[in-house]
Amino acid sequence: MPRTLIAGGAGFLGSHLADALLARGHDVICVDNLITGSMKNIEHLIGTDGFTFYKWDVTNYIHVPGPIDNILHFASPASPIDYLRLPIQTLKVGSLGTHKALGLAKEKAARFLLASTSEVYGDPLIHPQKEDYWGNVNPIGPRGVYDEAKRFAEAMTMAYQRAHGVETRIVRIFNTYGPRMRIEDGRVVSTFVSQALRDEPITVFGDGGQTRSFCFVSDEVDGIIRLLGSDATTPVNIGNPSEMTVKQLAERVIELTGSKSEIVHKELPEDDPKVRKPDITRARTILGWEPKVALDEGLTRTIAYFKEALASETASA
Ligand code: UDP
Repeated sequence: MPRTLIAGGAGFLGSHLADALLARGHDVICVDNLITGSMKNIEHLIGTDGFTFYKWDVTNYIHVPGPIDNILHFASPASPIDYLRLPIQTLKVGSLGTHKALGLAKEKAARFLLASTSEVYGDPLIHPQKEDYWGNVNPIGPRGVYDEAKRFAEAMTMAYQRAHGVETRIVRIFNTYGPRMRIEDGRVVSTFVSQALRDEPITVFGDGGQTRSFCFVSDEVDGIIRLLGSDATTPVNIGNPSEMTVKQLAERVIELTGSKSEIVHKELPEDDPKVRKPDITRARTILGWEPKVALDEGLTRTIAYFKEALASETASA
């Protein structure tokens, strides 16, 4: 039975990975300092055979007794408002945290998978983005703390592969959405869905002409698990290439929720990428992976989750 450690295992993606790996027969060790992760995401797993949780900060030295087969480094604030609020923690978990997690992988001869991001491409000058594009990142802008931390994390991962022979994988994750996103995480899908369900104004930043390509969480998790099992030693984009403008997303959310909300425009944040869309040729070719969940279906499932989350928030207020 493989034993897999997930750093950031109480987060949005980490907790879905924990579910999927337990279902595939892995023992899962979940490590999280809970600064953006939540026990709510894993409460259904506490007490389950093969599941262990440690409230640890992966930027410190971590010692885990016994063998480990896989280490998945998913610890990091990942939404723009989180990494603006937690700039130093974001830089530390991408740098020191990646170093510690790689050190553990070396000691245990474990396979290491890094959660990287489309943000390594910055405000891209090439469209759609292919893995061989080096990106257009402002190192000293507000998003630099995340972008550069992840770029450093990729460099460190490749260095451990080359210098120490650690088996490494790097996934570049594009905008992923679904149940267990936080109501207040500030990301566009969670924000628009929460605003629509409360009949509050939908805050479109700028003219809403900037584009993103949204991947439902079950597709993302499936791609990541395929990558873990593959022999791809350089980065692989995992995302849904169906691109749309932020304004179109707002209109879809209003339609699917039947909301009375109206669109209001707010200032576009500094360095907000104008376009983003993954080229997934590599994932298609080497992983046989393809996203399956269409936007309307994914949004419908996300809306159902947020309805419950908002109701329990109101009940506990
Ligand atoms: N956005 C928006 N309104 C919001 C939140 C985000 O218009 O309330 C826009 C944001 O400016 C960006 C896009 O939606 O262009 C995606 O933002 P998100 O924070 O989800 O992540 P990003 O893709 O920028 O990392």
